Amino acid sequence: MGTLAGCVVVVGSSHVDFTVQLDRMPRLGETVIGKGFKVAPGGKGANQAVAASRLGAKVFIVSRVGRDYWGGFLRENFVKNDVSVEYLVEDEEEQTGVALILVDSEGRNIIAVAPGADRKVSREDVDRAERVFREAGAVALQLEIPIETVIYAAEKAWRHGVRVVLTPAPVHPLPEKLLEKVTVLTPNRVEAEELTGVKIRDLKDAATAGTILVERGVDNVVITLGERGAFLVNAERSVHIPPFKVKAVDTTGAGDAFSGALAVALAEGKNVDDSVRFANVAAAISTTKLGAQEALPERGEVEEALKLLGF
Ligand code: ADP
Repeated sequence: MGTLAGCVVVVGSSHVDFTVQLDRMPRLGETVIGKGFKVAPGGKGANQAVAASRLGAKVFIVSRVGRDYWGGFLRENFVKNDVSVEYLVEDEEEQTGVALILVDSEGRNIIAVAPGADRKVSREDVDRAERVFREAGAVALQLEIPIETVIYAAEKAWRHGVRVVLTPAPVHPLPEKLLEKVTVLTPNRVEAEELTGVKIRDLKDAATAGTILVERGVDNVVITLGERGAFLVNAERSVHIPPFKVKAVDTTGAGDAFSGALAVALAEGKNVDDSVRFANVAAAISTTKLGAQEALPERGEVEEALKLLGF
């Protein structure tokens, strides 16, 4: 554990989401007039960093944006959310990453991503952040940047005795040398199925999938189960963490809210069970408002909800 309890380093993507709402999806070659348009900061790395900061952690983002208008937009958003941009690199060649999102009236989406500068997040970027890797309580990683960089960051964290949260999204085969460095792996149901080949229909299936990943070297696996909460598996036990009951209106970014919150709790030295409970509540609250980053809860809201639950 590093010297700064409550310090979280996030190594990952930051891009801009452009969303058009439509009554129905266009067919190939067709133009459909939309109902609304929204520009919002996104990317799993950025979302987790803002989630962690909102919950009171000192957060450093290790990421890349382009030397363009949208890079400035994302930088400003980090600053506004108290995320340190000391290790946010402005890439000389690539544009800022963007995601083009179409959402229909039933909430279904089609997404195209141009990762741009996200593709260039490198080992050197991680090395530049050496100081905060030493001080951090937890490092949060996802898979929207090159896998070599993710592995390198996990190894560095591990060497410094810093806890590692890995969100395996978008899903990608994970080498053992990475899994062995992970304190908590947080796949959702679909990702857990793809990583293990186990179809998850019930809690027993979640236990089976979790056990496979623990046997491959991860300390703890938390499979997020949407409105059914989460399922924790480690070498000692399998536990279902029931959902915190809310009226969900938009589950976009719930997984990132979960992993960001989990990193905060682990960075503060909480045990894994308490950390998962904290994350489960924070993620549930994030679904009660529209959007990904705008919907992320403050510390007080989560503490209050935990008190209601008797924790
Ligand atoms: P992802 O967004 O990555 O697909 P999930 O849908 O599994 O991930 O959601 C992540 C976490 O968010 C869940 O484990 C749970 O804690 C919380 N969550 C999501 N949807 C709901 C809901 N309808 N009610 C309560 N909690 C929810």
